Amino acid sequence: MRTEAGRILIAERIIGNDKIDDYGEVLRYNVFHAELVIRHAEDRKVRKMENAINLNEINIDSKPPEDEPARQYYFMAKCRRYVKAESERLGRPLTAAVITFGCQMNARDSEKLSGILESIGYLPAEDENADFVIYNTCTVRDNANQRVYGRLGHINSLKKKNHHMKVALCGCMMQELSVIEKIKKSYRFVDLVFGTHNIYKFAELLAEMFDSGDICGTHSGGQNASHRIIIDIWENTDKIVEDLPVERKYPFKSGINIMFGCDNFCSYCIVPYVRGRERSRSPEDILREISALARDGVAEVMLLGQNVNSYGKTLENPITFAQLLREVEQIEGIERIRFMTSHPKDLSDELIAVMKESKKICRHLHLPLQSGSTRILTAMNRRYTKEQYLALAEKIRREIPDISITTDIIVGFPGEEPADVDETIDVIKKVQYDNAFTFIYSKRTGTPAAAMAEAMTGTPEENLEREMMVKEGFDRLLKVVQDTARQRVARLEGQILDALVEEVNEQDSRLLTGRLSNNTIVHFPGDKSLIGRIVPVYLKECHGFYYLGEKR
Ligand code: SF4
Repeated sequence: MRTEAGRILIAERIIGNDKIDDYGEVLRYNVFHAELVIRHAEDRKVRKMENAINLNEINIDSKPPEDEPARQYYFMAKCRRYVKAESERLGRPLTAAVITFGCQMNARDSEKLSGILESIGYLPAEDENADFVIYNTCTVRDNANQRVYGRLGHINSLKKKNHHMKVALCGCMMQELSVIEKIKKSYRFVDLVFGTHNIYKFAELLAEMFDSGDICGTHSGGQNASHRIIIDIWENTDKIVEDLPVERKYPFKSGINIMFGCDNFCSYCIVPYVRGRERSRSPEDILREISALARDGVAEVMLLGQNVNSYGKTLENPITFAQLLREVEQIEGIERIRFMTSHPKDLSDELIAVMKESKKICRHLHLPLQSGSTRILTAMNRRYTKEQYLALAEKIRREIPDISITTDIIVGFPGEEPADVDETIDVIKKVQYDNAFTFIYSKRTGTPAAAMAEAMTGTPEENLEREMMVKEGFDRLLKVVQDTARQRVARLEGQILDALVEEVNEQDSRLLTGRLSNNTIVHFPGDKSLIGRIVPVYLKECHGFYYLGEKR
């Protein structure tokens, strides 16, 4: 793991101090569009499974029920029989690794995959040396795809030694036809592939995989041409299946999906194609889930959606995101509410008012800018101008002066010139972000921007010249982001603020790591019995992007 403080902090901010040992260019990390690899192998002893039901009571000799989630519980009970038989054959418990690439939505999906795997009898594994490995993939940037292929090469060698090993792939990358073709051609040892729309069917697909015959290690590790890969990819769905088991990563905080998909079609983004059209969960289901989490000791919730500001529009009885927040605020036991991500074009005055009045909504807003040039914003199909964005940021700062604003920025969008980067730098200076996640544009096949990029492809010399121009713009912009963010974070020095204690510091076990309402990290001496509690901390020394403090 790299030790440069800012880089670690970026990772911490997003995924809550997971173990990260392979995260490459973290400066190109985006809240939703990420290349981070998150391992789900930390200490799980303290966590409780959500929605767990007794699988022993299910008669698996009868026909599977048609209704969900009963159907999936039936298949979980069936899978458990396979896992038990294999475990007895090997004389040890079976292990499973869920390896997540990407965003908070994927991280939450992985908690659901882990919940099902643990329900059927797998123990969580530290790494790919496991009996079952599933990669929950991200496709927002091309090198996220390349990374998965690299990991599959490693898995192939493991599987040659452990013929009974099973390998599955799911997530956004699997929604791309070219990826499926490549897996069928070059990665025939993979056992199971499914996409984003049918993740709820994981237990059913696992049962099909086990049924396909080689659970007992009698095959050649999938190396033979006849090995059957189970592939189930849906183009879209309007289905939301509730109440499947979830294995939560933290006992005291949790993500909650409030909606799925996106209708915005920003021209560079593949999400609407791989995650489908926007679908909101019913407020009743969301509130029921959060109330149950609160009863289970969860103090902080993060409401998740690609564009939370348009929550509720597709419901039979539409409600606004601000109204939903008001309801969440009423839930006893919930002390902190976060959400991501907000599209600036949909951020309403009603939401700003609710945030301002709230005692529980955290003082942090992630407000993706992407570009400060109206010309490029139009090409990106973002549907706001530089001036509209600045006016919105000013209004938010005026109404909620203690708020931290963070953002995402893309440099090198097709057609962008140095003058456009200057416009973006101007916005950074005016808004004064607490942090910004900056990326060099990555072409995603099938998006309108990819066609623009292709149309602009020139001679190798011209392409190289453009690459250098983009890099120069990126470095210039990054320096402004870092300088601004350092100054912003330093403004808190000397204050006493509440921090939710998240864990023992990874580098120094005498320290605890906590998160302020505005998402800033503070490390301070303390006993691990404080983990999960909100405590006042004196912010003694600012170290760039984080603080060293003392408990008060
Ligand atoms: S709002 Fe735009 S960038 Fe965000 S997920 Fe939707 S299409 Fe992608």
